[in-house]
Amino acid sequence: METPDNDISTHAQTASDLRFGTVGAPQTTPESGTLSAIKHIRELGLEHLEIAWVRSVRVSDALCAQIKATAAEHGISLSIHAPFYTNLNSQTAELMEKSDARLLAAARKGYLAGARDIIFHPGSYHNQPPEQVYARVQEKLVEMTGILREEGVEVNLRPETMGKGAMFGDLDEVLQLSRDVPGVLPCIDWAHLHARQGDGTFNTYAEFDDALRRVREALGVEGLRHIHCHMSGIAYTKRGEKEHLPLNEADIHYRELIQALVDHGVAGVMAVEAPEPFHTADALTIQATYRRLRDQAAAQTELSAETEG
Ligand SMILES: [Zn+2]
Repeated sequence: METPDNDISTHAQTASDLRFGTVGAPQTTPESGTLSAIKHIRELGLEHLEIAWVRSVRVSDALCAQIKATAAEHGISLSIHAPFYTNLNSQTAELMEKSDARLLAAARKGYLAGARDIIFHPGSYHNQPPEQVYARVQEKLVEMTGILREEGVEVNLRPETMGKGAMFGDLDEVLQLSRDVPGVLPCIDWAHLHARQGDGTFNTYAEFDDALRRVREALGVEGLRHIHCHMSGIAYTKRGEKEHLPLNEADIHYRELIQALVDHGVAGVMAVEAPEPFHTADALTIQATYRRLRDQAAAQTELSAETEG
């Protein structure tokens, strides 16, 4: 059967899995600390932990080695959420230096801990023209990735799509950076993209499908197979993100989103950021939804192959 290249069903057939986990230790982790969080992720049947070094990076090299070994032992993949206070468009030399130091520390220590993906908030527009901010952010990322490469720190820096219109980081900006700077890949926060619109849009299968087509246009099928994304319910105003919400209190159509991910054969990681007391529950719900829709799609494919054969 001839299949046009733009038929997404051809990719679904070869899809490998999406791995699910939490940003930060799952709320139900019995003891504090990253090591017990990794073990608990495994107990829950999840597969990924995004370590939340979101205030600062204060971890010894010895602990990094323990984190790496524990994750390997339990088959858990790791990413790092860098401190919130990074801004590649910082407005003074002093602030810029601090921001650079935070991002580099997250990358260096994360690499030692066995993570290959460093997630960070790219910065603010400070009311400047988006093209001007883009050029600055691009320049900073060339500098940051250059430093890390020279040190042998082999990580992807992943700027996150942001939930407020005042923040740099819509989907196209983050995709363009990934094209322009080697060593940069996107972190697609789906809830943020929904909230960023501020009007309830970016919440249908067609819109999710379009976003994934843009990822594929920008980064190829490989881009779809190395996705790193965040998911949760979210509250927003017309200016964008207000706060994360549990799925059952939010308007985001997560089932449609996950169907689009299945149809595009997306592989990689989805880290869930639901607030307590739904942090663990929503991660498991989203994972179960994905597995059900993936299995249904596979059964459908088999069925149509039989009827055609
Ligand atoms: Zn984030």
